[in-house]
Amino acid sequence: FQSNEVLVARRNDACPKGLPSKSGIYAERAQGAEIWDVEGNRYIDFIAGIGVLNVGHRHPKVQEAIKAQLDKVVHTCFGVAQYESYIELAERLNKLVANGRSTPYKTMFMNTGSEATEHVCKFARRITGRTGLISFEGSFHGRTLLATALTGKAVPYKVGFGPLPGDVFHAPYPDPYKGMSSEGALNCLKHIMQTSIRPEDVAAIIIEPVQGEGGFVPAPKEFLQGLRKLCDEHGILFIADEVQTGFARTGKMFAIENSGVEPDFLVCAKSIAGGLPLSAVIGKQELFDKIEPGGMGSTYGGNPVACAAALAVLDVIEEEGLIARAEEIGAKLEARWKDMQAGIAKGLFGDVRRVGAMAAVECVVDGDPNQPNAEMAAAIQGKCRDNGLIFLTAGKKAQVIRTHVPLVASDELIDEGLDIFEKSVRQVLE
Ligand code: PMP
Repeated sequence: FQSNEVLVARRNDACPKGLPSKSGIYAERAQGAEIWDVEGNRYIDFIAGIGVLNVGHRHPKVQEAIKAQLDKVVHTCFGVAQYESYIELAERLNKLVANGRSTPYKTMFMNTGSEATEHVCKFARRITGRTGLISFEGSFHGRTLLATALTGKAVPYKVGFGPLPGDVFHAPYPDPYKGMSSEGALNCLKHIMQTSIRPEDVAAIIIEPVQGEGGFVPAPKEFLQGLRKLCDEHGILFIADEVQTGFARTGKMFAIENSGVEPDFLVCAKSIAGGLPLSAVIGKQELFDKIEPGGMGSTYGGNPVACAAALAVLDVIEEEGLIARAEEIGAKLEARWKDMQAGIAKGLFGDVRRVGAMAAVECVVDGDPNQPNAEMAAAIQGKCRDNGLIFLTAGKKAQVIRTHVPLVASDELIDEGLDIFEKSVRQVLE
């Protein structure tokens, strides 16, 4: 076998340095919420492939569905020969997004989150006949050109990669912890629609109900409701980017349910298919069907193996009660971190916040929300890694410790992970 160190050297020769891979862990095997590297070291996984494995690594039911599909058909292209699993998955997602309402939705599949956000905005332009798009500061919507334009962070995502598609504007995202209230953020948005673009020229507003890469910042309910109202007043489409928040992560199937707001479009990816590449654009039927045949398509989108996996994922979420479990897991993390916030990490853990099991700790200097402490977040992350626990950071300065604990993780495993976490913080503070 080759050691982590040898693989790091080969990786550095073979792959561009712009690709992040800070951990230096080379995975050999993974199961549930654990990963073993090529040297046999075990890691508890609190990041789940960046929110992709809500049902854990290699869930037996998902594995079984994938294996069964491999023996039937792997690829036809939905535009060439169609198959039932694509339709069944669309039917189930349409119902889930309608969430008990009678609104008919339709779904098309792609492969990645970026493709989904990119296309949904193209669709919104075609449907409304308008070109303007509004997204939020601190947002992340992907790395293709329009998705990069939508993203609300210049370094490292945008700088030098332009020209980016135009007619995209960024409004402040509400963040009461840092002093931006819902009302303040709505006022800024209205201001932008006076100074930079007329509301009647805006095709869509795209928002993450909880910002992911932005640092696990939830948009308050009243903000999302205010946004919906504004969209209704001006004929603007409301798009929820649920790539990181979807599939039980926030204690609901989709995070937008926490606000009661009905989206015109919802895009999702990541945890949809238990680790296989799949994304979906789900939109109101009356809007979607304004686009004529040929106006959309994808060679691999909704691949039969990915669809089989996704159907199994939806079954697992339901059968194992993962929506309720997300709340339990989040409460467990929160309780432990709040103890630390009041004790050993006083002044360092500025904010402990979560929506369901989308849970994070923001590291600051002297308890000041406006003094991010990225150095400490990185030090804790590194020490945890050495001690056998992995997660990532997020936020403007990477000051936020963020976790996507697989929702199948047992209490014992989560406690073990939290013990490593606390031990590592103590070691860093020594
Ligand atoms: N939207 C959001 C909210 C995301 O978190 C991400 C990925 N982190 C994307 C879009 C892009 O997804 P992908 O990497 O699959 O293109």
